[in-house]
Amino acid sequence: MSTVALITGAASGIGAAVARRLSAGGAKCVILDLDGEGAERLAKEVGGVWLAGDVSTEEASRAAVALAEDTYGRLDLVHLNAGISGGVDVAAFDVERYRRVVGVNVDGVVFGVAACLPLLRRSGGGAIVVTSSLAGLVGFGGDPIYTMTKHAVVGLVRALAGPLAKEGVRIGAVCPGFTDTPLVAGAREMFVNAGFPLLSAADVAAAVESAFYADEPGTLLIVQPGRQPVAYRYAG
Ligand code: NAD
Repeated sequence: MSTVALITGAASGIGAAVARRLSAGGAKCVILDLDGEGAERLAKEVGGVWLAGDVSTEEASRAAVALAEDTYGRLDLVHLNAGISGGVDVAAFDVERYRRVVGVNVDGVVFGVAACLPLLRRSGGGAIVVTSSLAGLVGFGGDPIYTMTKHAVVGLVRALAGPLAKEGVRIGAVCPGFTDTPLVAGAREMFVNAGFPLLSAADVAAAVESAFYADEPGTLLIVQPGRQPVAYRYAG
């Protein structure tokens, strides 16, 4: 029986690399992305199924889980990865943009967890990995609302890890540094000129795969260029 993986935000960047990696290992992938064309292209490439939807709505996550069940009859791995950068200046506040960033980066993860749990349980357990960020562990002054959302999902993972582990569902997060994807395309040249190393999406995908199988519930994997991922543990 193949492993079935649901990946949000998989039309591009880190999510696409995760879909490629998991499907190369034999998993069946269910792709959910706002970008329907990109999702379809990726699903064709990896031999999976796709759905266009907005993770900030409950319906999108529910529909993606239903697609997994209808197509493959089960669900084992869930990568809640879709995210957008903030660009909200807290001084010149843009309420609409603020709500959008929280809607995608926080609601999208909460709705994703809520939607996938019943099918994960019926499938005998499984694992959820959330894409947070290094900005979810340390302050990133350049983008305060993004930083806030990435801390929020780390809090959710920590709070859920113990209770979910009791029913055989693991939840963890990856916390990557800057990764060479379209999300940071605007700053790429600056990084390169400054000799600042970037992660590749494939580097992060390898960490996501190991986070799925982490022994400790609530493991937060710090991913940085040129180093093995480090599990972040905190006292208490
Ligand atoms: P990306 O822009 O390449 O990919 C993001 C994908 O998410 C796109 O396919 C986009 O269409 C999709 N998406 C955006 N909003 C969506 C929504 N509302 N519903 C469904 N899909 C949506 O970016 P990426 O760098 O691969 O980012 C993936 C995740 O990694 C994000 O959560 C991001 O915050 C996080 N992250 C990125 C970096 C980095 O430096 N690139 C570092 C740390 C964490």
